[in-house]
Amino acid sequence: MPFPTIKVSRRAADRLRQGHIWVYRSDLISKEIFPPGSLLNISDERGKPLGAAFYSSSSEISLRLISSRALADEAALWDLLRARVRAAAEYRLKIVRDSNAYRVIFSEADRLPGFIADRYNSVLSIQTLTQAMDRPELKNLIINTLFEALAPAGVTSVVERVEPRIRELEHLPEVAGGLLRGSESSAIFTMNGIRFHYDSAAGQKTGAFLDQRENYAAAAERAHGAALDVFCYQGGFALHLARSCSSVTALDSSRPALEVAERNEKLNPGAAEIEWVEGNAFDYLKDKSALGPQYDSIVLDPPAFAKNKRSLDTAMRGYKELNLRALKMLRPAGLLVTCSCSYHVSDADFLQMLTSAAADTHKTLRLLEQRSQSLDHPILLNIPESRYLKCLICELV
Ligand code: SAH
Repeated sequence: MPFPTIKVSRRAADRLRQGHIWVYRSDLISKEIFPPGSLLNISDERGKPLGAAFYSSSSEISLRLISSRALADEAALWDLLRARVRAAAEYRLKIVRDSNAYRVIFSEADRLPGFIADRYNSVLSIQTLTQAMDRPELKNLIINTLFEALAPAGVTSVVERVEPRIRELEHLPEVAGGLLRGSESSAIFTMNGIRFHYDSAAGQKTGAFLDQRENYAAAAERAHGAALDVFCYQGGFALHLARSCSSVTALDSSRPALEVAERNEKLNPGAAEIEWVEGNAFDYLKDKSALGPQYDSIVLDPPAFAKNKRSLDTAMRGYKELNLRALKMLRPAGLLVTCSCSYHVSDADFLQMLTSAAADTHKTLRLLEQRSQSLDHPILLNIPESRYLKCLICELV
């Protein structure tokens, strides 16, 4: 059976031709109703083909492009999905070093919109975000292909991660999540040779911030002396800093995250001791910055402050306050590693914020590295949203 065709507006057609991959509801011309998650071929108003996309009946993003050519039938779709999954896995096996934890499939950035897969050593954690990718036959096809591709590397189990809020928005049925293949739902994984716990059944199901993997190594390479990791979560930066610094203090407001962090520390003996502090970062930095310079290396990796464009001003004030206080706490020749994972904060905004924090504190900063997310979180140039993480590494001069 051939797939149905849907017509889109001229504006949407132009965007697709420029390489973009989303069509909004307001740009659909055909008012037909299609089954949730179906595959549709797209055409412009004159009937010229623009590719094939997955349809969502609930999202404002009605179509997510999967191919810039029309697809003939179900078999063609399956072949395409298999090829995409294999390519995603092969790319990771080629670019990831000294680590058995990384993102294997990152939705649009791997041209598999709505599907996320993370590997934590033997456990593969998957999540479906759209009606199409939640269709059992497509989901199973992807899981089976992934499993085949990664079994030789040591993957034995697959678990499903569920975020009820996302499923509700996409009108997906409630599911329990948990083990889908194999028998392991927890693992010990390594990043840059450092060991961490992963437990998909534990309270915080997020796993690790794999997008910072290469930044951990870059920070550890340059950090020295007394170090502070603010927003430490389960210790990603702190454990890396403990290898090159004489002491590490790590702060987070989440008790469960700190408990995992302490267990992670025990997996990595022989490094500097880490003092784990439970508290609010803004209060802590306010109190401590009044004491003046006391650290040689500081990492700031807050949660996304700008969840949308409207909150950008407030977000920038938050970033500035943190960075300003951190600069006051840095000793001469100190290192600052400062991050933002808000897509809405541009590279230019972030650099400008830091420049102004340095000016306000009468400090001169030398920019050493302007980094982004690890390579397993691909940046596709035609999808601006695929580039979201900013990580600046600077030193006081
Ligand atoms: N650096 C971490 C990731 C940080 S995620 C890593 O590489 O693994 C953001 C963290 O900020 C979360 O752990 C969250 O608990 C913490 N957090 C959020 N608001 C906070 C606040 N006001 N004070 C301290 N920690 C906060």
